[in-house]
Amino acid sequence: MSDNVYREEIQKFAARAQRWWDPSGEFATLHQVNPIRMEFIRQFSQIQDQRVVDVGCGGGILSEALAREGAWVLGIDLAEELIEVAKLHALDQGVETVQYEHVSAENIAEREPASFDLVTCMELLEHVPRPKAVVNACALLAKPGGKVFFSTLNRTLKAYLLAILGAEYLLGLIPKGTHQYEKFIRPSELLAWAREVGLKPLGMSGIEYNPIRRKFFLGSDIAVNYLIAFEKTL
Ligand code: SAH
Repeated sequence: MSDNVYREEIQKFAARAQRWWDPSGEFATLHQVNPIRMEFIRQFSQIQDQRVVDVGCGGGILSEALAREGAWVLGIDLAEELIEVAKLHALDQGVETVQYEHVSAENIAEREPASFDLVTCMELLEHVPRPKAVVNACALLAKPGGKVFFSTLNRTLKAYLLAILGAEYLLGLIPKGTHQYEKFIRPSELLAWAREVGLKPLGMSGIEYNPIRRKFFLGSDIAVNYLIAFEKTL
């Protein structure tokens, strides 16, 4: 097993596993952003019949949505409790085209290189010691011509104010201590790591929030949370 992991991060997520699918629980934000992540993915790829690996899948919010739209999905995460929650949820919902496995991105990349049409890796890079190695593993997992999607938090003052001070401390939208500012990733950094491993950028969107409508939407402001789509060229 790779050591590109903070054990305390895994424990933090695992301790809340039972509430992963509660739409108004601690992971409400992931539920709220999921439709627009799907919208973003659809801009660059079909989903039907695609073979997908969802890296750092958590309890399976994105994995299951992709499977419901006709993809063949493998969700992987290092929190065993979350893998169990994800499996049970899919079983309960009768979604049969999603599988889950407790394995690291690096290990699965070694085992199944160039095997996936789509690789998704949402809100994970800011939780690992060496995000570049995860980007590398995601690139290895994609077939030539395959698409790779990341979302993460930008290292800006605005992200600190909104994603940490606002969301964790003032509004209590997500649990305190979920994010560390120093771990946030600038798009320029992600683009440079991606370029090194043969990922060509296709497009980028900000995940923006409208406080009046209380809804997330895809917009041009990438200062807080953003999505990037790549194509595997090598
Ligand atoms: N991608 C999911 C979950 C994001 S939460 C979604 O957006 O809906 C972050 C997830 O990363 C948690 O499930 C946590 O267990 C997982 N994680 C943290 N460090 C990891 C690592 N090194 N390898 C794989 N998963 C990791």
